[in-house]
Order: sequence, then C-alpha cells, then structure tokens
Amino acid sequence: MCPRGARMLAGHGGWVAPTRLVAHCLLIEEGSELVLVDTGFGIQDVANPKRLGQPFRALVQPRCQIGETAIRQIEALGLSPADVRHVLVTHLDADHAGGLGDFPDADVHLFAPELATAQEPPLRERRRYVSAQWSHGPKWVRHEVGGDRWFGFESVQLLPHLDAEIALVPLVGHSTGHAGVAVRTGDGWLLHCGDAYFHRGVVDTPPTCPWGLRVFEGITGHDAKARHHNQERLRELAREHGSEVRLICSHDPELFDRAERP
Ligand SMILES: [Zn+2]
Repeated sequence: MCPRGARMLAGHGGWVAPTRLVAHCLLIEEGSELVLVDTGFGIQDVANPKRLGQPFRALVQPRCQIGETAIRQIEALGLSPADVRHVLVTHLDADHAGGLGDFPDADVHLFAPELATAQEPPLRERRRYVSAQWSHGPKWVRHEVGGDRWFGFESVQLLPHLDAEIALVPLVGHSTGHAGVAVRTGDGWLLHCGDAYFHRGVVDTPPTCPWGLRVFEGITGHDAKARHHNQERLRELAREHGSEVRLICSHDPELFDRAERP
C-alpha cells in the first residue's frame, strides 16, 4: 500500500510523496499442513480492486499485484496452496481478509467478536469490512477467550493436534475482535500483533511513532482506550520478555524487510 504523506507516515520524505506499507503474513509449515496467518489481498482484489471500496482505496492506495498474493507466493515456494488447512486472521479488515477466497477449504480461525461485528457491522464500522471477500462461505472457527494464559495475556491455544504451538491473543482496540497470533518458532516466540500498532517504535519504551501514523491509527481504530491499553501491555511485554518474544505488526515495512533478510 502506498498512501501519500511519507513525511507524516514514515517520518521522512516529502509531504505528499507516497510511502510504503506492507501486509505482513506468516506461513507456518507443520508436517504436511500449512497454516497461514492473515491473507493480505487476494486474487479477486487484484482482478477487481473496486471491491475494496473507494474510501479505502483513496486512503491507503493499495497496489494489488498478483505475484504478491499469498497463494501465488506459496506456489512460488514450491508448496501447494491446497495444503493450507488453517487460516488465522487477526481481524477481517480488507487488507487482511482479501485472500480468504483463495483458500476456500481451509478452516478460518478468529476471535468470535470479530466475526459477529463483521457480519452485522454497526453503521460506523460498515465501510471497513468487504463482505465479498468472504461471500464464498469460509469454514469459520470462532474462538472465545478461555482460561489459557500467554505471558500474562488472555489467550486461546489453537490447533492442539499440531506440534506447532500457536495461540490467539485478543488485542482489541483496532477492531472489536482484533487478536494477535503467537507462534513458537525454533528461535523463541513470535507475536504477530496485526494492527494493534502500526509502527515498530510504538512498543519501545518510551514509544515513538510518526505523528501521521498515529492519526491513521485513530482514524482506522474502533476503541482508542482499549488500543492504548493494549499498546501499553505490549510495551511491558517487550521490556520484560524481549529476549523470549519478538513482536511484529502488519504494516511496518521495516519489520517486514528484517524478517525477509536471512
Ligand atoms: Zn490493516
């Protein structure tokens, strides 16, 4: 996505120059199964970007390219998209749920309040969800918060049949049922925080964030108080467990580029 306002959104560059935001997805290989975390834009978004809606397109200027869809990237890795048995979505905004239709046979896991809101959005939330992205009828698997705990956060352990340790960690604020996804990797935990924050500096102590991106967070958010509260908890997590847990968010291009470097 290439919204204009690099100086405000990235902290450098021209005032009206475009900057770059990514849609950071994860692919987890576990035995013969693949697990996808968030889907970015999908093939139908590339074929028909208008379905994303004019306000969204004007705000974030998506440049949907077929080679960047999750399904095409999975194929490029020599893997079969049919092996994606589970998709976990942090939330159902258009830039996270666009590829759901490319994995119609997968179970789609999410935090129950997110689906409830997306299916019957109140007026002020109506524009953020693009119901065409799930008109194929995904196999929804709704999760409620149970008694699980992950570094002090409420959590739901997912996919217990896999060796992989994966948990849904509700981080509401950006949307009603927004959640992070924690994955135990060979090198400690990775917490994909979705849109709980937009800039890597937000979880530093003291926090930093280009002011335009902070405004952007406010415009696109659902509950500012809950969002700020969860950002504070994430800062605490980063301070106290930074050596055990790596935090990433969906849209920060620097975090994405770091992840791609060998
Ligand atoms: Zn987003």
